[in-house]
This record gives sequence, structure tokens and C-alpha cells, in this order.
Amino acid sequence: MRPLFIAGNWKMNPATAKEAVALAEAVKNGVGPAADVRVAVCPPALFLDQVDAALANSPIGLGAQNMHWKTEGAYTGEISGAMLNDAGCTHVILGHSERRHGMGETDAQVNAKLHAALAVGLIPIVCIGETLQEREAAQTEDVVAGQLTGSLAGISAEQMVGIVLAYEPVWAIGTGLTATPAQAQGVHEFIRDWLTKLFGEATAARIVVQYGGSVKPDNAAELLACPDIDGALVGGASLKEADFLGIIRAAQVVAAKGQV
Ligand code: PEP
Repeated sequence: MRPLFIAGNWKMNPATAKEAVALAEAVKNGVGPAADVRVAVCPPALFLDQVDAALANSPIGLGAQNMHWKTEGAYTGEISGAMLNDAGCTHVILGHSERRHGMGETDAQVNAKLHAALAVGLIPIVCIGETLQEREAAQTEDVVAGQLTGSLAGISAEQMVGIVLAYEPVWAIGTGLTATPAQAQGVHEFIRDWLTKLFGEATAARIVVQYGGSVKPDNAAELLACPDIDGALVGGASLKEADFLGIIRAAQVVAAKGQV
């Protein structure tokens, strides 16, 4: 059985450390000491230290939104995996579509970051997903398979079990458009089949694949009840404590029903 995993990607929000700490404390208080669903928050890098302190003694993971693949050196503006470890991170988002499409990040770069993240013990959340144009051209599976092939190059079955994937159709991110449960499950099933071919059935059955794209409290339950959807990567709704906790509650209900 795969645990449901809900992660909040705060992107370049909120504006101040004070607000970030307040949001982290609200999530911590809402989740409580024992989470039957895995939860992580991914604040801006500058606030990681303070959010880590705010999350002390809670089961909530702390994720960064990006990292560099080099361990140190002349890479102005970049942050290494070791620095993320030092700031208390447990997770790191890699290859988010806003980096792939907004900043030209390539599969090869995502792959280099993935190996670097694993080397320092971070749990990577590797994002993949097609644009609207690609979906309309019936290229979704080709695009997703290409991103998986490039981003996961050189990864063993043993390593794969420690990697989280996030299927995030680009057309659903921050747009209010959500993939229907059938659309999302269709791509998740394709991803599970792809993982099975590459890593074998036993390994593929253990890999957590989140869905991301305008997940809200009122659509979370039906998405999370799909057999191959193992959680959510949440952007906008993770900035509102009530909405993020509402999504976590929906996941708890699905988990309690044993639908995962
Ligand atoms: C995201 O940024 O990963 C995301 C899914 O954003 P939103 O939930 O706002 O669509």
C-alpha cells in the first residue's frame, strides 16, 4: 500500500518570513502530532530555516523548490543539496513546469539534480507533465515518457523507491482548470505501466505518484480516490491554511477508506 502524500509548493510566496512561519504553524497545528497521510511544505529557500524551526516536533516534511546539481563552487545564486540539508530539508521539488518552461530547465539538468539530491539523502519530487498544445496534439504519453526517460536516467530500482513523481499537466497549474479524475488516472496508469516496464512490478507498485494542477478541497477527494493517484502537489491552495488542511482532510478520509 502506498501512503498518500500531500505537499504544498508555496512558490515565491509569502512575502515575509513572518507570514511563512505563521502559515507553517497553522499547518502544523491543523495536522497534529500523528499524520496518517504524509505532508510536506515547500517554502521559498530564504525562509527554510525559520519554517524548519516552526515545524519542530511535527511529522511535516520540509521541501525546497529547486537545487543545483553541483556540490559547491562558483555558481552564483545557486543552492546545493548540502545547504538544503543544513537548513533542515527532507524533500526537494525538481523539474517543476515553471522551471522547465519558464527557465528552460532540461531533462538532463533535472536528472543531474536528481542524482545530486539522492546523494545527500533528500527525497526528490520530480515533476512531469504536458502542455495544452501537446495534449491537444495527442502527445501526452510521448511527452510524459520522454520526461521520465530523461529525468530518471541512471536511476536504479532501489533508488526509484525513494523518489516521488508528480504528474502536473501544465494547462492545469494555477489556471483553475483541473484534469478530471479520469484524465488524471489515465496518465497515472500510463506512468505506472512505464515504471513497471523499467523497474518491475514490485518496485512500480511502491512508487508514490502525486497529481498536481489546481487541486482544491472540493476536488481532492475524487482525484485521490483514483487507484494510481497517491497524493497531490498543491500550489495556490497550499497558501491558504483552510484550503490546504481541507485537502489533507480529504486525503485522510480516502486513506481511512483504504482506497490506496
Ligand atoms: C504547482 O505549482 O505545482 C501547482 C500544482 O499549482 P496549483 O495547485 O496552483 O495549480
